[in-house]
Amino acid sequence: MKNRGWIIVFASALIICAVWWLCITAFSSPAKTVGIYQNGELIEKIDLTTVTGEREIELSGEYGRNIVYISNGSIKMKSADCPDKICVKHGELESSGSPIVCLPNKVIIKFEDASEKIDAKAGAAG
Ligand SMILES: [Zn+2]
Repeated sequence: MKNRGWIIVFASALIICAVWWLCITAFSSPAKTVGIYQNGELIEKIDLTTVTGEREIELSGEYGRNIVYISNGSIKMKSADCPDKICVKHGELESSGSPIVCLPNKVIIKFEDASEKIDAKAGAAG
């Protein structure tokens, strides 16, 4: 009976570890790869964690230019020539928030699905 008790303790410890590990991997590395789309086409895919310093990306559309600004792992629409400026007012892109959309210039900035990366890793290992 004593041995069995230890097995249960050991098993539950293992389960707790597994759940903890899943939580860590799920929450500690949020999606940081951002895709910039225009007219439904991918313009650029950027891993925000690899961007050091500041970076600006200029896009031109029907209503003029959009300036995308990246710094310190965040991305936002710095300025735009579109009439509504909704994209600029959106502020920084948040992983839990909605994508930055500029309807007049057909620009979308959004986080890419992180599961894509995990699949690629698993494939390489196997
Ligand atoms: Zn806009």
